[in-house]
Amino acid sequence: MLEIVRIPVLSDNYVWLVHEPQSKATMVVDPAVADPVLEAAAARGWTITDIWNTHWHPDHTGGNAAIKDATGCTITGPAAEFARIPTLDVQVTGGDTVKLGDVVADVWDVPAHTAGHIAYHFADDAAIFVGDTMFAMGCGRLFEGTAEQMFANMQQLATLDDATRVYCAHEYTLSNARFAVTVEPENDALAARLAAVESARAAGEATVPTTIGAERATNPFLRAPHAAELGRIRALKDAA
Ligand SMILES: [Zn+2]
Repeated sequence: MLEIVRIPVLSDNYVWLVHEPQSKATMVVDPAVADPVLEAAAARGWTITDIWNTHWHPDHTGGNAAIKDATGCTITGPAAEFARIPTLDVQVTGGDTVKLGDVVADVWDVPAHTAGHIAYHFADDAAIFVGDTMFAMGCGRLFEGTAEQMFANMQQLATLDDATRVYCAHEYTLSNARFAVTVEPENDALAARLAAVESARAAGEATVPTTIGAERATNPFLRAPHAAELGRIRALKDAA
């Protein structure tokens, strides 16, 4: 089993440190910055061997160069965004597989937040790293794509088992929950989740990762019946 560590950085980013104990390979998903990530790895006696980027935004790639300088790690990321992530060593696209030690991840194309956004799915570990595509009770903003594309991404995520853990890159949960209840005021599971998230955040606790099952019950973007509805509520959230 992979060991996965959450590293909170900047105002609300989560960087994920992923250790494969058989080979001792250690990977970082979307390092916004370098120092807290290097410190978290060193504290566990792990050496970073890989960085995997989901998309080009600086709060997902800003630590690439310094971590590579410190460790000599290999940086893997979306081929379609190579021009914007010049530190990439390995370019991948949907349908490719990437290995962390002996463990294989499938690469998914999930364009919409950015045009070349990808996700990494570890099927055997029931874990997916989605970057800024899905959040707890939310989805990413449509900076470089369409509601149709994000709807397709949500439908693809909905094919995963309920137990699959979803590692998103921001702590947006409380804001998303407060918006979601305005979209689905009759959803009891959502109301209960909002209350739980309010308590967790008041206690300073993280609310990520989430699971596909929790999102299936409470995420209005995953639950949207068609792309037009996803687009409508995404625009409302943007204006909120
Ligand atoms: Zn982003």
